[in-house]
Amino acid sequence: MDLGIKGRNALVCASSKGLGLGCAEALAKEGVNITMTARGKDVLEAAAAHVRSVAPGVTVKTVAGDIATVQGRADALGTAGPIDILVNNAGGPPPGDFRDWDRDAWIKALDANMLAPIELIKATLDGMIARKWGRVVNITSSSVKAPIAILGLSNGARSGLTGFVAGLARQVAPHGVTINGLLPGRYLTDRLKGTIAAQSKKSGAELEAEFARQAATIPAGRFGTEREFGEVCAFMCSERAAYLTGQNILLDGGNYPGTY
Ligand code: NAD
Repeated sequence: MDLGIKGRNALVCASSKGLGLGCAEALAKEGVNITMTARGKDVLEAAAAHVRSVAPGVTVKTVAGDIATVQGRADALGTAGPIDILVNNAGGPPPGDFRDWDRDAWIKALDANMLAPIELIKATLDGMIARKWGRVVNITSSSVKAPIAILGLSNGARSGLTGFVAGLARQVAPHGVTINGLLPGRYLTDRLKGTIAAQSKKSGAELEAEFARQAATIPAGRFGTEREFGEVCAFMCSERAAYLTGQNILLDGGNYPGTY
């Protein structure tokens, strides 16, 4: 299937590793020019070199900086130029107990996982509307549909973003602009490895046994891959997905137990 997005211009935030990198790679393979961001320059440059190698011919730019900050966003927007496709992503908040989260912890979670995407949407949406084409994909979490107790900061901040864009998506739909959430279940990235390590420490279970136990609880019987995640993201950013908006697409190997 031709996704019809060759030559489009994308900003893929937090994409030196994990799910963001999977999205950058899949979009680049469709001929989309990419600006990749992450905080650490060396890992980001290595990731960009990888994307260039799998998608020769596309332009891959990099911006080292924290996307949760005003400066980080200004640098990313300045480098990317007019953006057709915005993939919002940032590291997730730490796991913990609700008693430990003070105001600063909440503000940090809101900055990274709610307000940064909202600011980037605000900065790019009018350009998309003027050009009558745009795609926004917010990488959130399955916790938007089914909360994960240990990730309370994530449950709260991402639900705030999801609620806000639910209204906005309908407002911009007449202009050829779509906004959707892509909700990862469990993918064996550094993020998940950290979460499982924290859970095994809490329960006292051996680390390898905890990985195997968690994989076995997923109906698909395994964790997801970054490539699978990226390819669905690319489809959601495509010409083919023009009628898909205001949705929250779970990509979790069947883990969410609900019928709807
Ligand atoms: P990861 O730790 O593997 O990669 C995170 C990437 O984001 C890295 O490139 C890192 O450099 C970059 N990054 C982090 N914070 C940043 C910031 N403030 N500014 C710029 N770059 C930043 O994580 P992942 O597993 O790919 O997860 C991506 C998002 O999806 C996270 O918010 C995570 O909580 C969420 N999520 C992941 C899973 C999973 O199973 N992996 C499940 C649910 C939700």
